[in-house]
Amino acid sequence: MDNTPSSTQRGPWARLALWKKILIGMVLGVIVGAVMGPDAALLKPIGTLFINAIKMLIVPLVFCSLVVGITSMKDTRKMGRIGGKALLIYMLTTAVAIAVGLGLSAVIQPGAGLNMTATHAVDSKDAPALVQTLLSMIPQNPIKALAAGNILQIIVFAIGLGVSLVLIGEEKAAPAVKVFNSLAEAMYKLTEIVMAFAPYGIFGLMAWVAGTYGLDVLLPLIKVIGAVYLGAVILITVFYSGVLTVIGRLNPMRYLKGITNPAAVAFTTSSSSGTLPATIKASRQEMGVSEGVSGFVLPLGATINMDGTALYQGVCALFIAQAFGVDLSTADYLTIILTATLASIGTAGVPGAGLIMLSLVLSTVGLPIEGLAIVAGIDRILDMARTTVNICGDMMVAVLVAKSEGELDQEVYDAQS
Ligand code: ASP
Repeated sequence: MDNTPSSTQRGPWARLALWKKILIGMVLGVIVGAVMGPDAALLKPIGTLFINAIKMLIVPLVFCSLVVGITSMKDTRKMGRIGGKALLIYMLTTAVAIAVGLGLSAVIQPGAGLNMTATHAVDSKDAPALVQTLLSMIPQNPIKALAAGNILQIIVFAIGLGVSLVLIGEEKAAPAVKVFNSLAEAMYKLTEIVMAFAPYGIFGLMAWVAGTYGLDVLLPLIKVIGAVYLGAVILITVFYSGVLTVIGRLNPMRYLKGITNPAAVAFTTSSSSGTLPATIKASRQEMGVSEGVSGFVLPLGATINMDGTALYQGVCALFIAQAFGVDLSTADYLTIILTATLASIGTAGVPGAGLIMLSLVLSTVGLPIEGLAIVAGIDRILDMARTTVNICGDMMVAVLVAKSEGELDQEVYDAQS
């Protein structure tokens, strides 16, 4: 991978593959955090620097790569088909994720024996702002959308611009396409540069998390944590890998290798939007997904596809029902699946967003909102797992859609070492 001329003269650390450095950063972070305790918060700024740098990339990267992706495809109908496929698979995988969460919670029974009692009547909140989200997908002012970093609005505008560039013909579009192409290339390069700092940023973030959450916070809720983490492992290694093997006819080991770097970034930053530059980079360079598919399917997925969040909502809804001794009917289970699917679409890809959406699921099925307080204490730990699943799901769909549309460079996918 490393083709800089001096790479042979550099030390062992510099020659190490990025994912290995990230892993080392993670492990060292946990050790340092465990030793320092709450003082490890001192190291958080290193992580914040990294998060800020990666966030800086999101808007220009998504915008340019999407415009470039569409203009390079030159076929607007194909784009529509890709979007439709991605949306459908996103919904289906989300529903499966909630079912896995409910199933695990039913088996593990994390809330059994807690005997909590609700003190407040359940206040059923207004319907989610889902309709509002959909209505406001079209930006009244695209510059404002870019400035505010509203990914859905940016996607809509970039698609409009890309399609129009295709429609006005090559000659007229050429200057703009050239500018976007070169900007997109530069953004990919900048992503690479920022990612080189990932091991240090991840070290800082891990130390902070490990130092903040001691065992006394974690132990009472160890079964909830276990259910969410087990669900995450099942979704990634069994479900996604299985879908890629059976439907995509692809080697799942390559997928598992390709998700390593973005998964580490997602795990430590707890933000799928923040991880976007890393997912786009890995999908293109390591998994051979075309610019068009990765530039379109991944930003869309980072905004609306949240399988990990859905899994967590399934686990937590049932955990809270068990803890408060509420019996759920089959209709309640179906309501949870439906609301959690919709709620996960409305969840922003930022840390902690899933917890807020959990209140919506709880109130829809009439579960005590106080339950939130219990899981809120360990939200970061759960968020790390769910965000990782969120982006692994996005990447699986990107690979699958690319394969089905002839947009996957099989050589790059297979060559990944
Ligand atoms: N942090 C998650 C994400 O960015 C969303 C959530 O809180 O569930 O994907």
